[in-house]
Amino acid sequence: MAQIIGIIGGSGFYKPDNDSQKKTINTPFGDATVHLTQLGNKDVAFITRHGVKHSIPPHLVNYRANIYALHHLGVSRIISTSAVGSIIKEIPPGSFVIPDQFIDFTIGRPKTFFDGKFDITLHSGEKRSGVIHIDLTNPYCPDIGNVIATAGKELKMDIHEKGVYVCTEGPRFETPAEINSFRILGGTLVGMTSVSECILARELGMCYSTISIVTNLAAGMQDKISVSDFLKTFDGKIVELRKLVEKVLEQVTFVSDKCDC
Ligand SMILES: [Zn+2]
Repeated sequence: MAQIIGIIGGSGFYKPDNDSQKKTINTPFGDATVHLTQLGNKDVAFITRHGVKHSIPPHLVNYRANIYALHHLGVSRIISTSAVGSIIKEIPPGSFVIPDQFIDFTIGRPKTFFDGKFDITLHSGEKRSGVIHIDLTNPYCPDIGNVIATAGKELKMDIHEKGVYVCTEGPRFETPAEINSFRILGGTLVGMTSVSECILARELGMCYSTISIVTNLAAGMQDKISVSDFLKTFDGKIVELRKLVEKVLEQVTFVSDKCDC
């Protein structure tokens, strides 16, 4: 098993430098671009979710190619970062949250490897096809979640250890009525990306956890949602986020027997 951790982040989080090696991985679902580099004390395979120039909207990200490419490289644990809106005012912009549950409202995007059209070859060489029903009792890896929470506390960050990530199709933001209904359903955060990755990672038996950065209060909780305010909050948190991810990478193991992801 390769000793490498997968990182999926926004284009603001990681800029490829001269030390990183760019690789195009051909997958049955299309090509994925991966940057191999070092972060913390680990070798990592980094994917910029929206492309290096932030040109791919959330509903058009090739989630299957990205997750399959990481699996193909021998990655068994993925840590991602995701920008979200907060549905509850107790979690203000600037907070970090480690979601432990999700509610999926995406509609148009492929979210399984096993739709009958593809034979999947796992990194172990095992072939899988047909219909697969995965268990998502703990959708996000509880073991990586614990590592992130511990690292966040050591860095004295405002980090919330639980949250329900509501995933919408995007790219538009939500209406206040939608946000009210998400709140009634028990949602904590709203975003457009992490859930697709979480499901696909589990289908290939990989651990997946995300660090959500609250960039704004959701619709109806502030006058309006402005992308420039959103980016300003995110940019203001980049240094802290990088520190957190580096500390997590120092402490996380390549495989774990503490979870059954
Ligand atoms: Zn796990």
